[in-house]
Amino acid sequence: PSAMREVQLEVPKVLWSDIGGQENIKLKLKQAVEWPLKHPEAFTRMGISHPKGILMYGPPGCSKTMIAKALATESGLNFLAVKGPELFSKWVGESERAVREVFRKARAASPSIIFFDEIDALAVERGSSSGSSNVADRVLAQLLTEIDGVEGLTNVTIVAATNRPDMIDKALLRPGRFDRVLYVPLPDRSTRIEIFRIHLAKIPVDSEVTADWLAELTHNYSGAEISAVCHEAAMCSLQEDITSEIVTRSHFEIALKIVTPRINESLIQFYQ
Ligand code: ATP
Repeated sequence: PSAMREVQLEVPKVLWSDIGGQENIKLKLKQAVEWPLKHPEAFTRMGISHPKGILMYGPPGCSKTMIAKALATESGLNFLAVKGPELFSKWVGESERAVREVFRKARAASPSIIFFDEIDALAVERGSSSGSSNVADRVLAQLLTEIDGVEGLTNVTIVAATNRPDMIDKALLRPGRFDRVLYVPLPDRSTRIEIFRIHLAKIPVDSEVTADWLAELTHNYSGAEISAVCHEAAMCSLQEDITSEIVTRSHFEIALKIVTPRINESLIQFYQ
């Protein structure tokens, strides 16, 4: 039995409104993917084509995956997700075939989005690993072939994400491949407020727990860490009393000591 069956179509249910802030990135992706689908004649009229591939990069946990899913949900596109490292571990000896299979499925399900998470695992700069014809090089070659083979105006959009833009082979960034590159930064204060609002809405919090207060205390936290803070605070309340119905400021103060930002200033410099 082929392991390839594991490359499954997904039906993501992430809405733009589930993603706090990042308005600029949402807009750019709508322009790049939704507009050509909804108004193909406008693109023809202007003599421009839509990008074939979009690469998002930035620190971990800052909504790259959510953005790709929301794009599929909100544009009514089928969604295929592949994690870069999985292609090597799950499909040992068959990684190239797995790449072909992903694209075949995406074409069959078009209009669709292929989302390559951690694409750096698939597209490490050639020559950076030992040997010249190793598996990684062949997988990258296959990926380039498939991307170049995606025809048509709006059928298959390729979206990829990485935390390591420096590792990516430059061949992927040529025109007609990943021709849009978007930086997805750590949330700034106003974005943190939006993210806290979204996550606090699900938790019975005391009235003195506000998104503004928490955003002030979470400089350098990623969206994923903000979500973890909310989870910890709720757990902390239950730990005190399993029948608790409220999460207070002091629970959040404890949670903020448990969940601290992984990123530091030098890493932030790295992305800029
Ligand atoms: P990685 O680079 O580690 O794959 P990512 O950038 O793809 O991370 P996501 O997987 O999209 O990040 O986000 C992780 C989790 O963090 C989400 O499931 C969500 O709970 C929370 N999160 C991150 N950013 C936001 C945001 N802007 N609004 C709401 N929730 C967010």
